Amino acid sequence: MVRRRGQGEPVAYIIGEKEFYGLTFKVTSDVLIPRPETEHLVEKALDWVHKKSFDHPVRVLDLGCGSGCVGLSIAAKAPNTIVSLLDISEKALAVTQDNIHLHKLNERVELIKASAAEVGWMTQGNRIFKHNIFDIVVANPPYIDRHDPEVEKFVRKFEPEIALFAEEKGLSLLKSWSEIYEKYLSSEAMMAMEIGSQQGTEMYDHFKMLGCFHDVQIIQDLANHDRIVFGAKYG
Ligand code: GLN
Repeated sequence: MVRRRGQGEPVAYIIGEKEFYGLTFKVTSDVLIPRPETEHLVEKALDWVHKKSFDHPVRVLDLGCGSGCVGLSIAAKAPNTIVSLLDISEKALAVTQDNIHLHKLNERVELIKASAAEVGWMTQGNRIFKHNIFDIVVANPPYIDRHDPEVEKFVRKFEPEIALFAEEKGLSLLKSWSEIYEKYLSSEAMMAMEIGSQQGTEMYDHFKMLGCFHDVQIIQDLANHDRIVFGAKYG
């Protein structure tokens, strides 16, 4: 373990777990290591659940779930939610599955292997939940520009490329996923995605452009960096 750490491997991969939102998640090198700034996504979702007092189970969709830390934290902290977790990576989904068991969330969670870029998965027969409309859509998609010189050496070396990088200066999936899933929001829904610190202005404009949100916000993390784009619909 000391040797691996000496070579720069992140502690979470060496010990196989990471704490996130007060919960422990299994991680392997097939998933991104949960980051504390991503907890703001969970916070926004839980605020929404509490503020809106839904009279039905709150339908949550986590796009590109990786370890499952975002969607499963929401499920664990809000018992009136049902959560659909989606990822394209089979290996990542194996980790998510272990985390579902770890937190005993099988009853309120469905796991789907699919690309978020297409919506065909919604009507596939093997789904547990049958709805195709959501009250909360969250994602921490890959949003880093492949050529960004700021990416830490050991992030690039050890964390999965598929979880880190996106085209169009990192904006391609943030833009396309929000555009696609805006159409599947319920009348009282919110959408929130993690963004890079330089992507606030562009994603604010993009969420405004989508036209469905009454309230669009860019939320900063504890280091005062733009970190979350948030959009809310009211009735
Ligand atoms: N949603 C997962 C997380 O927040 C995975 C994110 C990713 O792989 N880009 O850790």
